[in-house]
Amino acid sequence: MKPYKIKELTAIISAEIIGNPDGNIEQIYFDSRAIYQPKNAVFFAFSEFGNDGHSYIEDAYRKGIRQFVISKDIDLKEDAAYLKVNSPIKALQKWAGFHRNQFQIPIVGITGSNGKTIVKEWLNQLLWKDFSIVRSPKSYNSQIGAPLSVLQITAENNLGIFEAGISLPNEMQTLEEIIQPEIGVLTHMSSAHLENFDSKENLIREKIKLFQNSNKIIYNSDNELIKKLIEEVYADKNKEFYTFGKNENDTIQLISINEIPTGKEIKIRLDSNELSFKIPFHDEASVENILTVLTTIHALELELEKYLPETEHLLPIEMRLEIKEGIRESVVINDTFNSDLHSVKVALDVLAQQPFPRKSLVLTDVLQSNLNKDELYRKVSDLVNSYKIDDLILIGEFIPKYKNLFKSKARTFATTDEFLKTLSVQNVHNEAILLKGARPFKLEKISAFLEKKSHDTVLEINLQALTDNVKFFRNKLNPKTKLMAMIKANSYGAGSFEIAQTLEHLNIDYLGAAYADEGAELRKAGITLPIMVMNPEQSSYSTIIEFQLEPEIYSLRVLELFIQTLKEKSITEAYPVHLKIDTGMNRLGFRPEQLDELIQYLKTEKSVKVQSVFTHLATADVPEEKEFALQQLKIFDESYSKISSELNIQPLKHALNSPGIIHFNKNQYDMVRLGIGMYGISDDDSVQKQLKNVITFKTVISRISEIEAGETVSYGRRFKAEKQTKIATLPVGYADGIRRSLGYGIGNVLIQNQVAPIVGTICMDMLMVDVSEINCKEGDEVILFGQNPSIKSVAEKVGTIPYEILTSISARVKRVYYKE
Ligand SMILES: *Cc1c(COP(=O)(O)O)cnc(C)c1O
Repeated sequence: MKPYKIKELTAIISAEIIGNPDGNIEQIYFDSRAIYQPKNAVFFAFSEFGNDGHSYIEDAYRKGIRQFVISKDIDLKEDAAYLKVNSPIKALQKWAGFHRNQFQIPIVGITGSNGKTIVKEWLNQLLWKDFSIVRSPKSYNSQIGAPLSVLQITAENNLGIFEAGISLPNEMQTLEEIIQPEIGVLTHMSSAHLENFDSKENLIREKIKLFQNSNKIIYNSDNELIKKLIEEVYADKNKEFYTFGKNENDTIQLISINEIPTGKEIKIRLDSNELSFKIPFHDEASVENILTVLTTIHALELELEKYLPETEHLLPIEMRLEIKEGIRESVVINDTFNSDLHSVKVALDVLAQQPFPRKSLVLTDVLQSNLNKDELYRKVSDLVNSYKIDDLILIGEFIPKYKNLFKSKARTFATTDEFLKTLSVQNVHNEAILLKGARPFKLEKISAFLEKKSHDTVLEINLQALTDNVKFFRNKLNPKTKLMAMIKANSYGAGSFEIAQTLEHLNIDYLGAAYADEGAELRKAGITLPIMVMNPEQSSYSTIIEFQLEPEIYSLRVLELFIQTLKEKSITEAYPVHLKIDTGMNRLGFRPEQLDELIQYLKTEKSVKVQSVFTHLATADVPEEKEFALQQLKIFDESYSKISSELNIQPLKHALNSPGIIHFNKNQYDMVRLGIGMYGISDDDSVQKQLKNVITFKTVISRISEIEAGETVSYGRRFKAEKQTKIATLPVGYADGIRRSLGYGIGNVLIQNQVAPIVGTICMDMLMVDVSEINCKEGDEVILFGQNPSIKSVAEKVGTIPYEILTSISARVKRVYYKE
């Protein structure tokens, strides 16, 4: 970002300055865990998000930050500067609005419920050659994300593309003042986030406030409600509408869509010309997104025909920034989605955040830039030099020539293959490796080498979807209600550390583990959140104490044994424990009639402190048993009151799991325990529609063969072909967690977006599917389950619940994490 002086910022945000006013600001932080370049950085102490930023000022100071924007009285350090304001978040927004006003460049502002990021990225992919574009990093579109994006505008940019996302009424006004788009774009509208708005109409009205000062508005006129509202609100305001849709008077009229093997071929009309182009996608949403992009390009007064040939090469957004487990305790970050300066910075940030002592960077020529080479590589090297890089590899025709500009000693290669020849397993150990380069360099060859080898079968976990689901549930809660995230059973099969780390960044209050070992592993990996352990086995008490885990106490016997261990270890401070009340589940916990004895015991026992009292509902997701759940809650209320009054304590009180949050929302008490919901699954159909799919089980086709009528497939010859049939063999079987009972035509998989039935008997490590109707080849991707077939549908077919399906996926299946 463009540097600001502390003095300037003080004036812009009308702050009271305490301490040295002479510093510079080149970097903004609000999460003390993410600090890695403290020099000339400012830390904003936000207090809006449950977790008060002021409590992290110490940590930020320790990491070297000396400039703070605060709103409360705190301990002041002599060598630091403090800008005191009423609201740090408003200050950031005001600063961004001021910054925006320094530039006259065209700004495209994108809002809508789906497709904001893809529309922004596709605009960038099509336009980068002709513009110096500044755009929101990742999906930065919130009350914090949008100002941070806008603050990146510099004098060199001549086009800005920013996203604006809202989840509460009245938020758009703020974003409009920051972004001030000249061109407003409305992407697909669904009912996501509707929960905080009384109707879809109000949601749209709120979103289109982004366009109040725009000259041009782009929208899909086939959506009647959108058309009606935009025309009603803006018709007489001297705005030009650029629409797309099926109507003759649309700016871009959709004429036809044809399926082709590589995706879709689309015909449109612009003015009186018919134009045709291809996209490499099969799904419906991509059509709406590309029409939005093309209409925007037209509204920018650019010649559309010049860009149409490029649409065939657009990339899906999922290809951005993959993080995979590597060989010899390393992690590999692979990012070849864009090759521009901006994406180099985003990727370096991700590298800096990896908890590994060593950082390596493989960087190729940067292709998407209009700067001359000297200028470009001076900037690239400045950027790289501002991070700690232990091992630097430069690949390409140009970048090696500039190796002396880099602080770290670089090894240079003309091609990826040349570098690969020098790469040996022995050289890699306990490090984070970023592969950042342009697509022609085929860095995936390096990542194939570095990734932990297993099978082509993977369990993909979308951490952004997990984040969105947590936010969805948080929106269902009172602001004060705490959130415990259940990560038992390896986070329902999704893997502990990555999930816990994501949750820690979301300011969750508690983690819930099944066993002490799960908690200990997380502590070793650096997770500091409080962790409750639900099955504290006697043999694990030492582990519990050593790693500061908090046991669930479900009987007097456990309490006595645990206290005995505390005494043996001479622990003097009261140790936090959680009391489980059995209100009808009849699994673990104190029954109401056992409470007197428990209370008597605790009255004299000072070695433990009751951190929380909780119970678990047996029928939160069974509508017919609502009465039973209410009865449980009543018993729980009474038990809690008794403990609280007789011991004169107010520990946290909690009862609800994911279905409980939806169906018994009134009983959230002090905390709820979210499990399956954050992994994207709900018993409630309307909730299910609003959750995002987190977990996808994938493999690839090993072999395709044609069999003749009468031939049979697999053990026991239970499938007999009635006609010539094309069979694909998949390298996954019941040992990976695919239920054997899904064989014989009961289960399906998805190949090229089409359904292929499983035929014959499922084997231990393989299964076969009928692909007669599908145009596919060996090596093609296969979805075993995820969005479609859904985890719920698979569970129903074999007569079980999604929980069992998820937790049965074998440990030998590699877990791969995605973050947008
Ligand atoms: C597993 C579990 C939860 C979470 O349940 P979900 O249905 O997955 O939300 C909550 N509380 C306790 C005690 C649990 O064991």
